[in-house]
Amino acid sequence: MNRVERRLTAVSSFLSYAGRLTLVNSVLSSLPTYTMCTLKLPVAVIEYIDRARKHCLWRGSDMNAKGKSLVAFKKVCRPMKNGGLGVINLRIQNEALLMKHLHKFYNKMNLPWVTLIWNTHYPNGQVPHISVDKGSFWWRDIMKYCDHYRGIANCKASNGTTVLLWNDVWNGCYLREELPRLFSFTKNENVSLAEFMADEEIQNHFHIPLTEQAYQELQELQVKILHVRSQDSQDDVWQYCWGSQIYSSRKFYALPFKSVTPPDTFHWIWKSKCCKKLKVFAWLLLMDRLNTRNLLKRKNYKLEGNIYSCVLCNANEEETAFHLFFHCAFSTMCWHHIGIHWDFTLPFFDMMIKAKTDSNLHFFMEIFIIAAWHIWKQRNGFIFQQITPTPRMDARPIT
Ligand SMILES: [Zn+2]
Repeated sequence: MNRVERRLTAVSSFLSYAGRLTLVNSVLSSLPTYTMCTLKLPVAVIEYIDRARKHCLWRGSDMNAKGKSLVAFKKVCRPMKNGGLGVINLRIQNEALLMKHLHKFYNKMNLPWVTLIWNTHYPNGQVPHISVDKGSFWWRDIMKYCDHYRGIANCKASNGTTVLLWNDVWNGCYLREELPRLFSFTKNENVSLAEFMADEEIQNHFHIPLTEQAYQELQELQVKILHVRSQDSQDDVWQYCWGSQIYSSRKFYALPFKSVTPPDTFHWIWKSKCCKKLKVFAWLLLMDRLNTRNLLKRKNYKLEGNIYSCVLCNANEEETAFHLFFHCAFSTMCWHHIGIHWDFTLPFFDMMIKAKTDSNLHFFMEIFIIAAWHIWKQRNGFIFQQITPTPRMDARPIT
């Protein structure tokens, strides 16, 4: 934590948002990586590092500085292709890195620690996930993730020592749901597949007599068991939901964000050839998180004279991001100047897509970002330095 703080106090207050983002991603986020590969970070430590990263990104180096973040940290922590800024979510990253121990363990890899744990804690064929609270603090921490592990992995059963007959998914079936009537007669619902297969008298595992339907299901079960028995000399193999037997912490990390699909426009930002400073600016613009007067009003920030209207035109309209960059007479003039037309009848992101299609330019996004940046600079120049706005980009150097 001290190291995080030391790094933080260095230079961040002199950097733009893009510079700070790079600092957060490549320095602050990677400091705990080595530890996270082995140990589960306590929640308090993760919160502390998150606090430092939030400060670094939005408020510079002073840990006690006040001021609200421009964007919720949860959104910042999404990967770029899911509409965020790609800041690492330490909790998920920690889990993704520790999960590889479970991968080695459940697949019984030929490693000294794997053999040691199997022999010491599960010598009589116990299935690990029903005999929790065994072993060192380290192993108990790792086993806390075993439910998630079994959620992403499916066992290809051979000798059946790592799976439960009823309560695990093996060979693509979840017997508890597939054979519900037979399951209602079972004596021990946590019996392992290996234990069940070792018993020649299969009916010992059920309360008899069985009903007719349950008996039919028992025959189905026998067919499945017969199939597994033919190869019971090998170890079970666990396969992952991304269709491979190789565990990848990168793929695991991406899973929770899979359902977050932002509009295409966000992908265009990161694909564009603009510098990172402009990309972060465009991202803030599309997230509607630029400090326009409307945003200041929403944050209850009092402006002199309570004037929240746009300064670039005389329409006396409130300065929302949409007005400032698209609707304002000044911006309209700018867009007209470079030949981009907006169809205001469409929803915002459809309007962007249509403008791109109509303009038929490969570098549409670059033009859009640079022009929007220019409008933003003109607006700031007028407010803070009383420089008259001009739509001509070469009228004065853009800094
Ligand atoms: Zn205006």
